[in-house]
Amino acid sequence: MGATGAWLGTGLPGAAAAFTVSSGLAQSLAADSSRLGERLRMLATFGANQAGGIDRVAFSDANIEALDWCEGHLREAGFSVERDLVGNLVARKAGTDPSLDPIMFGSHVDSVPGGGNYDGQVGSMGAMEVAVVLADANHTTRHPLEIVYFTNEEGGKTGSRALVGEVEPFELEIETASGYTIGEGLQRLGGDPDRLADARRDAGSLAAFLELHIEQGAVLDQDGMDIGVVEGIVGIMRWNVVVDGMTNHAGTTPMDRRQDAMVGAARFVTAVHRVARDTPGRQVATVGRLEAEPGAPNVIPGRVRMTLEIRDLSMEGIERTFDAIRARAEDIEESTGVSFSVDQFYISRAAPTDLRIRDMIEQSADARGLSSMRMPSGAGHDAQSIALLCPVGMIFVPSVRGISHAPDERTELADIVNGTNVLLDTLLAIDTGGLG
Ligand SMILES: [Zn+2]
Repeated sequence: MGATGAWLGTGLPGAAAAFTVSSGLAQSLAADSSRLGERLRMLATFGANQAGGIDRVAFSDANIEALDWCEGHLREAGFSVERDLVGNLVARKAGTDPSLDPIMFGSHVDSVPGGGNYDGQVGSMGAMEVAVVLADANHTTRHPLEIVYFTNEEGGKTGSRALVGEVEPFELEIETASGYTIGEGLQRLGGDPDRLADARRDAGSLAAFLELHIEQGAVLDQDGMDIGVVEGIVGIMRWNVVVDGMTNHAGTTPMDRRQDAMVGAARFVTAVHRVARDTPGRQVATVGRLEAEPGAPNVIPGRVRMTLEIRDLSMEGIERTFDAIRARAEDIEESTGVSFSVDQFYISRAAPTDLRIRDMIEQSADARGLSSMRMPSGAGHDAQSIALLCPVGMIFVPSVRGISHAPDERTELADIVNGTNVLLDTLLAIDTGGLG
């Protein structure tokens, strides 16, 4: 195979010895399919619903019970477990070299309302399985290990964003699908919303972050590939757009004396579509919601409220698209007499994964005889925020027919085992070879 050798040979002191250990480990260690399958089935009981999926939204009783259950198994694997200030479950195990920063890996156990049994859960149980495999083999890594199950991934990635100081105080007041506000929810998970700012971690305080996740799209399944090597996660920006015109009588106001907010909005929607489509690149832009006021058949709308969303693999790409759209909005203001105001309300950072970790994931798959392909992630993940702290890598496994965020979401156990083995090997490759 020789793959392990390619990861190492860094010339660092101790690298040769580490190579021998790692090489032996990578060949002998593997996820236990029946244990992994059993734990996924157990996890699926927390918040199970009639449809065969789960309602385990962040901060719900089911969310809390699932985390407590996870905590027990992580302790069995020799980890000490705590909840940080935003309720992230953090399990720690010391390494043999105290001078090294921790390698973090994990996922999330919360779901969307009416979710399936794989999103977040595959990565959470995969990380737990890696912990158990290492414990059973009596292998202590050089780096400290941190397994993390992030808070409220599905409702705004609160846990991971707080680690980089991106959660704004107003978010604590937002009511979630659990019925609790985010602030109340953080308290329920053992966090302290009054100390939100202290949850932040320093850039460079982690050696790396790895996450195993289902693809949530149909590419791997349709192409018959075992492993997706994630190149990055697209960034998302969203704005509220308000078009102001003048409300007036739809019968008595001549066509040349109108400031019709709906006409301005219609031109804006078309402009958004054209700009995103006609500019070179892979950006996408969408007006997903539109409401006219006062909203009566016989009244010229004086105001239209819309949303604008733009996604791209680079934030610069999003900014460029936005600037082009804004320029078009100014043209529309001139030609229709309406005015636009635009207010950004959501940002989710584009996050390229680390080039060296991509290679390691690819080589790990190769060494296990698994096929792999490189791909972007159109869905958001906690790794986006963690990428501000350290190099990140993500491993995708196939989603059957690409179904996700629904009870029919499914990934074959064999694929989950494959992904877990690649997670294990990649972790050991980082641990022994480092990213230096
Ligand atoms: Zn997820």
